[in-house]
Amino acid sequence: YRAKEMGRNCFVFYNPDQNVYSHERLLLENEMRRALRENQFQLFFQPQIDLATGSLAGFESLARWNHPQKGMISPGLFIPIAEETGMILPLGATVLRDAFATVARWREQGKEAFKLSVNISGRQFYQKNFLSDVMDLRDRYRIPPHSIELEITESIAMQMTPSTMDVLLQLRKEGFLISLDDFGTGYSSLKYLQEFPLDCLKIDRSFIEHIDTDRRQRGLLASIVGMAKSLELTVVAEGVETEGQLSVLTDLGCDRIQGYYYSPPVPEHQALEFFSRTT
Ligand code: C2E
Ligand code: CA
Ligand code: CA
Ligand code: CA
Repeated sequence: YRAKEMGRNCFVFYNPDQNVYSHERLLLENEMRRALRENQFQLFFQPQIDLATGSLAGFESLARWNHPQKGMISPGLFIPIAEETGMILPLGATVLRDAFATVARWREQGKEAFKLSVNISGRQFYQKNFLSDVMDLRDRYRIPPHSIELEITESIAMQMTPSTMDVLLQLRKEGFLISLDDFGTGYSSLKYLQEFPLDCLKIDRSFIEHIDTDRRQRGLLASIVGMAKSLELTVVAEGVETEGQLSVLTDLGCDRIQGYYYSPPVPEHQALEFFSRTT
């Protein structure tokens, strides 16, 4: 490992074997700092469908970097860099504010019955001001808290202490919804499901992928859905791509689906079209 001075007084360690210690990478970091200043980050929206009614349940907001030369850059590239450098804090704050502003704007256009999910990174959640930042946004945008669903990951759940657990409890008491993202991919423990103040479980795509062809995968999914239901959680299946997967999920009583089968993440003007569309 080598240490490299980054910016003024911030040291970051890189593993050269992973090829992340590169000129390209440093360039990207500098461009990201500029992108934050120049508001090059924006939200895309991927619809979620309520399987019982076939109607639009809401959207997940997904960050995109609209780079002036390179075009749309996906979060798989910039979120890890943002997390390592700490830029996730200003980026996360921008994303959260944009999400509240979007809900407020859509409500002004008469669109009311929908939820907007926002991805929250660990560093963002564990920041001292997280709870008060959310409350400030609520006061500023005056939207019903139940229209915002905060997606946290299992790695956040793992680091939970009594005081950060209290943040979750407060958020829920205020009416915000809490969703456990990528369920099954991390160091999942059934303990979290039982102890955590959660509203919703998002089953990772890897558990959905083969359910239309593999009986054992289908069995595994059935028990995850059953478990979530007995804990009275809303179950969302991620990465639904085929009609076969959809029909298995419908049979199992999954509550909502999200995936390319219905739509990829789209920019706002396209997202708005889903309000008038029926499945
Ligand atoms: P995620 O939260 O698990 O989001 C779902 C990802 O799966 C999205 O990738 C989405 O485009 C993709 N996806 C949706 N449906 C399908 C499908 O049917 N098939 C396949 N193969 N993929 C599907 P995306 O937008 O590239 O985001 C990647 C990850 O970046 C997200 O995974 C999330 O962890 C992170 N991310 C995105 N936006 C934000 C953000 O605003 N804040 C934070 N902290 N993380 C974000
Ligand atoms: Ca997510
Ligand atoms: Ca996910
Ligand atoms: Ca994921």
